[in-house]
Amino acid sequence: MNLHEYQGKELLASYGVEIQRGKVANSVEEAVEAYKSLQEETGTDFCVMKAQIHAGGRGKGGGVKLCKNMDELKENANTILGMMLKTPQTPGGIDGPGKLVRKVLIAEDVYAPDFDACKEFYISVMMDRAEKKNVIIYSTEGGMDIEEVAENTPDLVHKEHIDPLLGLQAFQARKIAFNLGLSGTAFKGMVKFINSLYNAFIGADASMFEINPCLKTGDDRILAVDCKVALDENALFRHKDLAEQRDELEEDPTEVEAKNLGLNYVKLDGNVGCMVNGAGLAMATMDIIKLSGGSPANFLDVGGTADAERVEQAFKIILRDKNVKAILINIFGGIVRCDRVAQGVVDAYKNMGNIEVPIIVRLQGTNADIAKTIIDESGLSVRSAILLKEAADIVKEVVA
Ligand code: GDP
Ligand code: MN
Repeated sequence: MNLHEYQGKELLASYGVEIQRGKVANSVEEAVEAYKSLQEETGTDFCVMKAQIHAGGRGKGGGVKLCKNMDELKENANTILGMMLKTPQTPGGIDGPGKLVRKVLIAEDVYAPDFDACKEFYISVMMDRAEKKNVIIYSTEGGMDIEEVAENTPDLVHKEHIDPLLGLQAFQARKIAFNLGLSGTAFKGMVKFINSLYNAFIGADASMFEINPCLKTGDDRILAVDCKVALDENALFRHKDLAEQRDELEEDPTEVEAKNLGLNYVKLDGNVGCMVNGAGLAMATMDIIKLSGGSPANFLDVGGTADAERVEQAFKIILRDKNVKAILINIFGGIVRCDRVAQGVVDAYKNMGNIEVPIIVRLQGTNADIAKTIIDESGLSVRSAILLKEAADIVKEVVA
């Protein structure tokens, strides 16, 4: 689950990380009010308006604008609120439809008054699976072009791995501040920043925190100007307050619906829908589809109870994707019996009536033979298979 920038910043602040202060607004009127109260708090007229969507690269897409007075603020709020913001990270990239902006953050301009003395850093925390450790990734070359920096000058991107038993060591935070070229007050500020950021990462059970830019201001303060957070959904039960901050409007509507039905569904870009029980088998099935010359349209784990109702729900979710040219159902009947699943598939198919894509069902395990008979004798255009190889061959045939 991802957080909005403004939510991520609140979370950081609660761990003692200094942030660019701001207020969130859902309408032009709220933006005006937010601006007025920010003016009172900070004593300056300059602010920056930032579109709140679950995607980065907003600056490049026109979703981050400086405002020097009330007129500019109103003008920008009218443009940004309600716009379809296209960034390299919105679905389909800058050529895609973009994402609707429903909220803006009105934040203090922390680069003023001494813009030239400001320095933008890149700092993120995530898990390095290969090393089996958390890692802090950092660079002196923060800001909007970090992707190009990583691509062209990877030497400028540093990594500090954190031992899971020892946690972040004091010397590691100092090393990072030193490598970022800081000294004096800014050095101390960065050490505190790194420590608090890491505490927030651990405390919130996050899978990623990305602060880009982390800013050194003209008066040597170190603060988070941007904040991208991904939380580990498996740990959300421990964080009711964070779970409540989920913004379903930012998520893929089919994925949200599947989640509410208890189905584990992730939409992908391919043409073969798949319905599988068990995450491992689902991964293997996606590989098989790829090897057969198709590409998976989704990941879908229906879980242990693949009865008719569930199969029907899963069909509906898969068929909502117009790219789907065939559906491969691959179920292992361990706890659930294959004949029950087969009956479920047949019933769901009949109930839905208008399924036009070919369906390939591979059932293996308890009562697989009976299941195959049920499917073959159903009179429906459902192809059955017992071996994965047979299923793969049929997939190859129908997507050719
Ligand atoms: P992103 O493009 O989605 O990563 O959004 P950011 O929050 O990182 O903002 C994009 C860029 O806007 C940053 O890299 C900064 O250069 C700039 N920016 C953000 N806040 C301020 C601010 O308070 N003042 C000024 N002058 N620039 C800002
Ligand atoms: Mn950013």
